[in-house]
Amino acid sequence: MTALSTPLSRLVGDRTAKALAKLGLETGWDLVRHYPRRYSDPSRLTDFGDLPLGDHVTVNARIVRTSLRPTRKPRTSMLDVTVTDGQGELTLRFFGAHGYLASSERRLYAGRVGLFTGTVENFGGKRMLKNPGFEFFDAEDEEDRAAALERMSRPTPIYAATAALPTWRIRGAVQTVLEPLDESDVPDPVPAEILERDGLPTLREALRLVHAPRTEEDWQLGRRRLRYEEAFVLQTALAVRRAEAEAEAATAREAREGGIRDAFTARLPFTLTEGQQEVVAEISRELARPWPMQRLLQGEVGSGKTVVALLSMLQVVDAGGQAALLAPTEVLAAQHARSIRAMLGPLAEAGMLGGAEDATRVELLTGSLPAAARKKALLAAASGEAGIVIGTHALLSEGVQFADLGLVVVDEQHRFGVEQRDALRAKAAVTPHLLVMTATPIPRTVAMTVFGDLETSTLREIPAGRSGIRTFLAPSGHPRWAQRTWELAREEIDDGGRVYVVCPRITSEGDDVEGEFLEDPDAADGAPAGGGGPGATGTAAPAGGNGKPQLAAVDEVAAILREHPALAGLRIGELHGRMTPEEKDTAMAAFASGEAPVLVTTTVVEVGVDVPEASVMVIMDADRFGISQLHQLRGRIGRGSRAGTCIAWTTAKEHTPAMTRLRAFEATTDGFELAQVDLEQRREGDILGAAQSGRGSSLRLLRVLTDTKVIEQARWDARKIVDRDRTLAAYPALGQAITEQLDPERAEFLDRT
Ligand code: ADP
Ligand code: MG
Repeated sequence: MTALSTPLSRLVGDRTAKALAKLGLETGWDLVRHYPRRYSDPSRLTDFGDLPLGDHVTVNARIVRTSLRPTRKPRTSMLDVTVTDGQGELTLRFFGAHGYLASSERRLYAGRVGLFTGTVENFGGKRMLKNPGFEFFDAEDEEDRAAALERMSRPTPIYAATAALPTWRIRGAVQTVLEPLDESDVPDPVPAEILERDGLPTLREALRLVHAPRTEEDWQLGRRRLRYEEAFVLQTALAVRRAEAEAEAATAREAREGGIRDAFTARLPFTLTEGQQEVVAEISRELARPWPMQRLLQGEVGSGKTVVALLSMLQVVDAGGQAALLAPTEVLAAQHARSIRAMLGPLAEAGMLGGAEDATRVELLTGSLPAAARKKALLAAASGEAGIVIGTHALLSEGVQFADLGLVVVDEQHRFGVEQRDALRAKAAVTPHLLVMTATPIPRTVAMTVFGDLETSTLREIPAGRSGIRTFLAPSGHPRWAQRTWELAREEIDDGGRVYVVCPRITSEGDDVEGEFLEDPDAADGAPAGGGGPGATGTAAPAGGNGKPQLAAVDEVAAILREHPALAGLRIGELHGRMTPEEKDTAMAAFASGEAPVLVTTTVVEVGVDVPEASVMVIMDADRFGISQLHQLRGRIGRGSRAGTCIAWTTAKEHTPAMTRLRAFEATTDGFELAQVDLEQRREGDILGAAQSGRGSSLRLLRVLTDTKVIEQARWDARKIVDRDRTLAAYPALGQAITEQLDPERAEFLDRT
């Protein structure tokens, strides 16, 4: 046990350890990894311009004057200390026993510069720090002068702190732990040859540089090294994962001429884009190797990933194996089953009258299947009769068996974690090949961080013949917009089109929002929460019992549209997550066939649903949806030859983050551009969290979005090492770091699912 693994109570004493525990710091390691949030230059005062109410702040300021006076309570006084940042002033207000405050006042004399820390409070319209903690740079007495001068010239680390534990006590605790350590106490996960190559300090040295820098260059160098380390440890973990999977054997599934795949290709009503052909060929080669393919297929919404997946699955079927397609929702799984059966036609009718000679079977297996249908599907999967089994995560459950699972395709990966991928793969006796598809365009470095164990292919083109989508933002409830919207819907429907109307909620009563939903966007600026009714009159929806305007709900909007003159005589369908799978299926089918050409729905249609005739989408309370969700939603229209129109209704005000999102959404249909805006608005942890990687919190300094070069270099270095030494036998500190930093979170993640 190294000094750093020791509980903090043994290192810094019980009292401090208790306070540190409140910050989530338990061991020496935790403490030295609690890096300063910023550095204060003692010679530069903190700008008071931006001290948000309620924030715990630490300011570097000069004392201007003090005033001590009694309060109404006996023996209690109030000491006001006015400090300046050189321009503005801020009051520090101390309450306490008179004698105590009088002695404080002697230390708090005018001209003295120090750090003051406390929570910004509002006292009669003025910002103040109440009973702040303080520390001075200059000396209390003559002997300390030299030390003080030296201290004055150094950057002071400022830590994320609490009222009970000001930043200087954390600094003290860190020094107590750090100072006695020598190199051997701090095993370095980064190999010496890399440090040497890049001129980086060891871990021990880097910790000293960030916690006790002498100069700005010191902490910058320290942080540079720690940032690299984060990228490197993560990339090594991913490289090991990849290497381990590759070291396993898989069954080679070679393409067979004249098989079902060729028959299907001949049936295709369109030619594949060049991009699709390339990816299909790439996958085809990898399926034919005796070790598992591990590939991520990224492609813009509507780029035609499904057909690529299907061709890959058919190659496996041709080779005598089975393929499983995993979808994130029942609606999507059912749709995949429907459209894949339709595309295959007689090729999916093995054993049936009119079935083709080479035919296979496509089974759907979801959680809410009636017992009989479930039994039939399970049997078909286990016997191998079903060449393709499509399902939701129900496919992961025990009891689902395959005769010879050769390929796992995961659609819309962002809903599945690594662990779920593994669970499905574990269902095969021999590791199956893996194809992961995601429509959320994610920047390269994010892909490298979240899916770093996969090789990536990207479909860049959208198949020809698409006519594009126009997007408009409309003020919710505005009568002319409302009228125009429903008239346009009518025109499109009369011309053979279909219309989606997307609402955040299911019913007008109750808190039944559906999907990944923004609770209270921009609450700070007081933007009203939604409230646009769809009525032609333009009246906003009624306020809820709590006085907040209501968000549009499926039942309510459907009812209003059924009465709307512009839509007279049309059947209005409904779709949401509370319906049974059969109800959902029926609703989708009625919409697809045109029987019910208007579908009022929640975000259950967000992912992957494909109705080529759909040409209009109206999104109610659009500000309530995240940008990638909006992009996914909009991807449901303009999929056929019919040009799409998306009308996003909103009450968001200009210059709010919500409006920034919506403006970007209006301006472009380029998913990569939108992803960038999305990421800029999110916090780092959320980015990785959104991908359910469960790794977010091991990254303290690394910024996935901006530290591109670091991540790329680290990935390259990691792969080189793992190629040579898959078990990391020669790199014990690195192996240790992977286990310690990544595994606890992985365990935690598993607990949560
Ligand atoms: P996504 O990549 O979003 O999953 P899909 O696979 O659902 O996209 O494809 C969108 C639509 O484009 C489908 O209707 C599909 O049949 C069609 N499609 C796919 N490839 C082509 C192509 N090469 N030419 C024309 N249409 C295509
Ligand atoms: Mg899709």
